[in-house]
Amino acid sequence: MTKLVRSSSPSAKAAGLLNPPVHRASTITFDNVEAYTGRHSRIYDDVIYGLYGTETTFALEAAIAALEGGHRTVVTSSGTAAISLSLSAFLSAGDHLLVIDTVYRSTRRFCDDVLTAMGVEVSYFDPGVGSDIVAQFRPNTRAIFLETPGSLTFEMPDIAAITAVARAREIVTMIDNTWATPLYFRPIKHGVDVSIAAATKYLSGHSDVMLGAMTAANSDIFRKLKDAARYWGNCVGPDDCYLVHRGLRTLDVRLERHQRNALKLIGWFQQQPEVRHVLYPGIASDPGHAIWRRDFDGATGLFGVLLDDMTPQETSVFFNQFQLFQLGASWGGFESLIVPAWPAPERSCTPVEKGSLIRVHAGLEACDDLIADLSAAFDQLRSFRSGTGS
Ligand SMILES: *Cc1c(COP(=O)(O)O)cnc(C)c1O
Repeated sequence: MTKLVRSSSPSAKAAGLLNPPVHRASTITFDNVEAYTGRHSRIYDDVIYGLYGTETTFALEAAIAALEGGHRTVVTSSGTAAISLSLSAFLSAGDHLLVIDTVYRSTRRFCDDVLTAMGVEVSYFDPGVGSDIVAQFRPNTRAIFLETPGSLTFEMPDIAAITAVARAREIVTMIDNTWATPLYFRPIKHGVDVSIAAATKYLSGHSDVMLGAMTAANSDIFRKLKDAARYWGNCVGPDDCYLVHRGLRTLDVRLERHQRNALKLIGWFQQQPEVRHVLYPGIASDPGHAIWRRDFDGATGLFGVLLDDMTPQETSVFFNQFQLFQLGASWGGFESLIVPAWPAPERSCTPVEKGSLIRVHAGLEACDDLIADLSAAFDQLRSFRSGTGS
């Protein structure tokens, strides 16, 4: 964390400034013709063209790489771009890709719609598979895409067990680590080759920036990621890099508060008769708790709550009652969010428990205010139910 709080850039340090400069550039000029003609040999390390990054970009990439404990990072225009570029960097026609069944919805779409059309074979595996994933390896298996915890349903795969057997077969592993952030889980330490973050969420933290990051475990992986990013024309504006860099300074204190609020809200949910259980690896009753304790340093603000089935009318009564919680799909910002979720259509081989699932993001508001808002919604639901005699 000290590294994050103090991370800057060379010219800022030389000038005595605490923050990296916001450099806007397309054209970069060179001192002599030799430097100009030789510029492409320095593409990975120097500022040679705006598309490939400026000091502002490199400063953010260095800060994220330090946090990840990785070799180097490439930032992307969104979390989605970090996912599609990572996959594109390693897969071509005839390859087989294994994808965790609890993957984020747009990742699944990219695999099924884009990679399949490119001639990549895609198959899904149960998050609980562990080292038995070897049974699903094919001669052409080239990559494994992971996400922890599972999108919407919060399952906890055993990352080290999967990466160990993948490594033995030289299969590349990538992970979407957006929920924990590299502050609470460091995938590269657990054998993953590419650690992906939707920086749009907690790294930025203020609900105003779209940005992604792909961090490589070593220099070969880094070059492939950087090449994919430049060939596909990926570029991030300097203001967005600057804002995410600023967000990183307070990541630790924000996450502490998100976690504390989440735990308080969860305690409250668990006392409501309509709640069957809460999906959050940070609580002892969660099936993924043992792995979470072993591998993670904390839990963040996003969790699921499984309720007894609600009718469409009850769903409207419940969700339209909120004054403080807002309905919105992204999360990781300062505000609390609540939405209904339907994971079942997005699963190929994992059963989904029946009931009504809601997804909650605990923001940074005072917890008592949030609980009052939740109480009012549950009261509204109860009086609706008693009024309709159901
Ligand atoms: C939001 C999110 C993404 C996509 O990030 P964007 O920046 O919105 O494109 C990817 N994975 C997970 C787990 C996310 O929550």
